[in-house]
Amino acid sequence: MEDLSLIKNAIQYPQNVVILSHRNPDGDAIGSCLAWKLFLMAKGHKVHVILPSEFPLNFSWLPYTNEIVIYDLQPERAKELIEVASMICCLDFNSLDRIDRMTEMVRSSTAFKMMIDHHIDPEPFVQAMVSDPAASATCELIFDLIIALGEEKYITPTLAECLYTGILTDTGNFVHAVTPAIMRKSARLLELGVDNDKLQILIFKNLPEKQLRLLGYSLYHRMEIMTEYQVGLIFLTKEDYAKFGISRGDTEGIVNYMLQLKDVQIAALITDQNGIIKFSFRSKGDISVQALAREHFNGGGHKNASGGYQHTSLKEAIEKFKSVIPKFVQSHYPIQILN
Ligand code: 5GP
Ligand code: MN
Repeated sequence: MEDLSLIKNAIQYPQNVVILSHRNPDGDAIGSCLAWKLFLMAKGHKVHVILPSEFPLNFSWLPYTNEIVIYDLQPERAKELIEVASMICCLDFNSLDRIDRMTEMVRSSTAFKMMIDHHIDPEPFVQAMVSDPAASATCELIFDLIIALGEEKYITPTLAECLYTGILTDTGNFVHAVTPAIMRKSARLLELGVDNDKLQILIFKNLPEKQLRLLGYSLYHRMEIMTEYQVGLIFLTKEDYAKFGISRGDTEGIVNYMLQLKDVQIAALITDQNGIIKFSFRSKGDISVQALAREHFNGGGHKNASGGYQHTSLKEAIEKFKSVIPKFVQSHYPIQILN
């Protein structure tokens, strides 16, 4: 960890810390922010977590979620906190455009900035960086960092649960990005007090009825398979959102189901979220949807899970997706899949 001594120095004296993560925060975003908050608080810092948009309700049992400032709901409060921060920690994102309207505030802040993240090609806007695309989750890197600082004693059962949450969600419950290292670290978190059964129920067996019905509806009425290219697509309209009374986080996970199909290599979920069209991509094996998101949809992410956005109608977005797929598939699929 190259910048370890920089971080060690930076946290040596009490600071006014702001911890930030990305829009549409997932379990790894929230888990890493809260774990790092617990650690810094225990070290005597004053710490606020700010997220650009709301988080899914199945994470509200995590510690201090009621104190998280959501920019969409409290922009002035978020601005004030960033203005007075002496340290800004950017977790689980690698470029400033992932924090939307806080981008310029953070860019121009004179606070000490650090990034802890596992996405490829980090934007160098920080003084200290812990960046490792081989890490399964940002929570893994927070664990590594605390250990490297020689501070394992600060990993309380509560902090361990925050880290384990990010690992569970970013590995899809130990389905992908599973490495010997992440299994060892997860085992250590169990030793440090994580109750796996409890977290399985809180995170994965906690859906409101409408969400399962939405899944059924999406698979039955909104799924198209582009057989020739082995691509699956689900789209959700503004009307669908209204009909099911759903908000952003409720679509979490839908895209993954299409990869259960033998003949689907790439899965896409395209949603109309009030004027902004969001793309969510997943892929199997060596096929990179990171490239798809980066090259065509203003986005990025990981090899097998990425996303992007555009400001058009949903219809145009679906057409755009369908029009880029043939060429993308030709140049990115291993030959044996198409033959
Ligand atoms: P999801 O499909 O769960 O929203 O996102 C999957 C992954 O894609 C995220 O972990 C994130 O790395 C990446 N991602 C999603 N949306 C965007 C986006 O708009 N821009 C970038 N750069 N990455 C995104
Ligand atoms: Mn992550």
